[in-house]
Amino acid sequence: FQSKPAAGRHFLQIPGPTNVPDRVLRAMDNPTMDHRGPDFGRMGKALLDKVRAVFKTEGPVVIYPASGTGAWEAALANTLSPGDRVLMCETGWFAHLWHEMATRLQLQPDYIRTDWRRGADVAAIEAKLREDKGHEIKAVCVVHNETSTGCASRIDEVRRAMDAAGHPALLLVDTISSLGSIDYRHDEWGVDVTVAGSQKGLMLPPGLSFNAVSEKALKASETARMPRSFWDWKPMLAANATGYFPYTPATNLLYALDTAVDMLLEEGLDNVFARHDRHAEATRRAVRHWGFETQCADPRHHSSSLTAVRLPEGHSANALRATILEKFNMSLGNGLGQLNDRVFRIGHLGDFGDLQLVGTLGGVEMGLKAAGIPFQPGGVLAAMDYLNGNA
Ligand code: PLP
Repeated sequence: FQSKPAAGRHFLQIPGPTNVPDRVLRAMDNPTMDHRGPDFGRMGKALLDKVRAVFKTEGPVVIYPASGTGAWEAALANTLSPGDRVLMCETGWFAHLWHEMATRLQLQPDYIRTDWRRGADVAAIEAKLREDKGHEIKAVCVVHNETSTGCASRIDEVRRAMDAAGHPALLLVDTISSLGSIDYRHDEWGVDVTVAGSQKGLMLPPGLSFNAVSEKALKASETARMPRSFWDWKPMLAANATGYFPYTPATNLLYALDTAVDMLLEEGLDNVFARHDRHAEATRRAVRHWGFETQCADPRHHSSSLTAVRLPEGHSANALRATILEKFNMSLGNGLGQLNDRVFRIGHLGDFGDLQLVGTLGGVEMGLKAAGIPFQPGGVLAAMDYLNGNA
């Protein structure tokens, strides 16, 4: 599919899909098995059990053969009824899309706006919940890591705000670009539905998505009246009890998931998170050195899985990305929605090491020069100095 021959491996540094490790590719490259046969049941049961560790939950994790958008819909459709009020936070493009979906599904979202330069406004969430004396708001929906801005919301603080307001709403969290990259604790933070996707921190190709489900969410699903069929947890969980699925699962992606979870657990989740924190800090140092701002303006909300970089007024981020792709065979993320052409995004999540980061930043620095954008050279060195000093 390459438009022109290019030597060397393509640098896929968009914030997902991420680079799939060879070990995961090898795992996928096994014969597809009978998804109703005994071997599948054994694999399925072990995998459904094992995957919970990544979400830090003791509860069930539902796996769909779908992209993350499907798991968004599943979270809403299983827990809510048409006309329900939900509280959503406009942290960026993905929060916007989830909000649009909620509206199409006939929910009534209350929308807390931000300037797309920080995470969810926890004080505003608490205030809205305190105002809602009749407990009409049935769910609070937050995108943990806003992939369009590189801002990560504080889910622990959201939980505390909900508790402080004494509000019984469900907490639904999108971790599509944070799970397996940024510390996340479904049970400890009292999250009711965690939405995740395969193609980012889980290091798989696109095609799987997830709902981790709390007991409270399961209970809500018993009375939730939103029409649902493909997304319905009930037949899923019934089949999952013996390791099977109610319809044909994405068998080879499940082989891949099994290996990817092993890899994350072998490295140790805390080490994985520390690796991404360190790469994110090194990236920000390069960006600062070049003389640019990150889209995230609140240091407490910096994402460890991607960095969105604002170019000076009058310079095109899309032209820069095109130059970098053309000259150096590297893909960077584009600006989404109102950030189109204003920012470019560097993905540093998934299967990623120091030299890949140095190569990525090197490509950006060479691209800046080639595109004629004024910058202070030496950002890559600043990143390398940080990496050396923080092994
Ligand atoms: N939520 C977030 C935070 C995302 O980053 C994405 C995709 O990048 C989505 C939702 C949508 O997921 P998908 O494109 O897999 O349907």
